[in-house]
Amino acid sequence: MFRRMDEDMHWHFSNAAGDGTMRHPVDSLSWSQINSRWPEFASEQRNLRLGLSTDGMNLFSIQNTKYSTWPVLLVNYNMSPTLCMKAENIMLTMLIPGPTAPSNDIDVYLQPLIEDLQDLWSEGSEVYDAFSKETFSLRAILMWTISDYPGLGTLAGCKVKGKQACNVCGKDTPFRWLKFSRKHVYLCNRRRLPPGHHYRRRWSWFDNTVEEDTMPRIQTRVEICEQLKDFRNDFGKALDKKGKRKRSGLCEDDELSEDEHDEHSDTWRWKNRSIFYDLPYWKNMPVRHNIDVMHVEKNVSDAILSILMQSSKSKDDLKSRRDLEDMGIRKNLHAQRVIDPEKLVALETELIETLCQLERFFPSSLFDIMFHLPIHLSRETRLGGPVHFRWIYPFERYMKTLKAFVKNFARPEVCMAEGYMAGECLAFCLEFLKTSAPDWENTNCNEDREPDEIVLEGRPIHKAKTVILTETEREIAHRYVLMNTAMFTPYVSSRPIPVSSVSSRPIP
Ligand SMILES: [Zn+2]
Repeated sequence: MFRRMDEDMHWHFSNAAGDGTMRHPVDSLSWSQINSRWPEFASEQRNLRLGLSTDGMNLFSIQNTKYSTWPVLLVNYNMSPTLCMKAENIMLTMLIPGPTAPSNDIDVYLQPLIEDLQDLWSEGSEVYDAFSKETFSLRAILMWTISDYPGLGTLAGCKVKGKQACNVCGKDTPFRWLKFSRKHVYLCNRRRLPPGHHYRRRWSWFDNTVEEDTMPRIQTRVEICEQLKDFRNDFGKALDKKGKRKRSGLCEDDELSEDEHDEHSDTWRWKNRSIFYDLPYWKNMPVRHNIDVMHVEKNVSDAILSILMQSSKSKDDLKSRRDLEDMGIRKNLHAQRVIDPEKLVALETELIETLCQLERFFPSSLFDIMFHLPIHLSRETRLGGPVHFRWIYPFERYMKTLKAFVKNFARPEVCMAEGYMAGECLAFCLEFLKTSAPDWENTNCNEDREPDEIVLEGRPIHKAKTVILTETEREIAHRYVLMNTAMFTPYVSSRPIPVSSVSSRPIP
C-alpha cells in the first residue's frame, strides 16, 4: 500500500461531519451502525467499506444487438468525496460474459467474489503498509449494491414488476391493474399523506374514493432474512424471456406477470435467496440494494416529457384514456417541480403531494414502478447518505472506458480484462516511480553546468564515443553552432551584416 493511498484510506476516520449534515456515506446511518455493531472492524481505519455495482453493457455499440456482458465493479468508500467515485478508485472484479444477461443465475457467477468477500470479512488479507512499514490484516465489508431496477431484481432475487414490484413495499405495493392498457400501475400516493390532509377527502381529484388507509409498514431486514431462510434456489432453469430485458430500465413493462397464483403471500415476490446473504453481515445492512436515482430520474422525466410533448413513446394513448373512463377520473395535463435532495423530511411530504398532483392530472397508465420508487428515496438517503455515492453514473461512465478496450470482437471480455490489467499495472508503476526516484534524478541533465556564452558545453546522456565527421557534416554542425550561439544573434537577423561604420539602407 502506497503512502499516498494510505493517507486516502484514513480519510473517513477523521472527516465525518459533526453537525448532522451528510456529505459522504461516512455521515450515514449505515456507516454508524457498522461502527457500533462491529467496533473491532471499525477500529482499524484501513479496513475497506465497499459498494458493488453491476449492469449489462452491450459491447458492440449496436443498439439492436442483444449482447450483454456484466462487469462487476467495486468502489471503496474510505476515501474523500472527491476521490471516492473517481474511475481510478473503481475496481473491476469480474466479468460475467455474454451473450445473454445472467438473470437468475447471477449468483453462480458471483460465488467466487462472495467467497473472497467472506474471507476478507472473517480473516482479512495480509497487506504490507509502506507508510507505517508494517504488515497488517486488511478486512473489508460490502455495504450495498448499485444497479438499475431490473438489475436490482437480479441481485436481490426479487420481482420488479407486477403486483409486488416494489422491493421496499413488498406485498403492500399499492398496485392497480389497468384492463385496457393491460399493465400494473402504482398509485395510492395519498395514503402516505398526514391523516388530516385535505387531498384525502378530494375524491373527485383522484380515483373517486376517500383515502382512509395509512402508509404500510416496511418489512424489517430481520423479517426478510427469516422469510428467506429456507428458500430453495433453482438455478439454471431455462428462462424463456432471456435477453428480453430492457436496457433503459422499466419503461415498457407492458407484459402481464407470468405467475398469478398465491400472490398475496410474503414469499411470492422472491425469485431466489440472494447469494449476498452468505455474507455474515448482509442481514444487518440497512440498505442492501440501492434504488438508482439515475434511472429513476431518467425514466420519470422521459415519461413526463413524452406525455407533455405527445411523442410516439407517450403513455397517454387511447387505451389509457379508456382506463381513465373506466376509473371515472379527470385527465388534464400539468407539470410539477423537480426534487431537491436537501431537507429530507419536508422533501418527502412535498414529494408525496407532488405525486398526488401528478396522479390527479396525468393518466394512470403513466404510473409504472418508476413513479413509485421516488417515494423511498428519502428513506434511503437517510440510511445510506448522499445519492451521488449510491447512483450508477460513475459506473456507467466506467463501462464506456471498458468498452474502449475491446479491439477484438471475437473475444470482447478478454480484451476488457487485459486492458484493465494493463491500466492497473501502469498505475502501480507510475505510483512507484513517483516515490522511488530521488529528486536529483528528475532535474535536467545540463543544469549543473554553468552556461557559457562562448563555449557550448553539455554532458553526454550515454557513454561518449568518437565519431569522425565528413567535411559537409562538419560544415553543417559548425553553422548550427554559429546560428544558435547568443553572441551571433545580432548578426543573424533579416538585416544584412554591416560591413563598415557607414550605415546602409536596409533592404526591405
Ligand atoms: Zn414501495
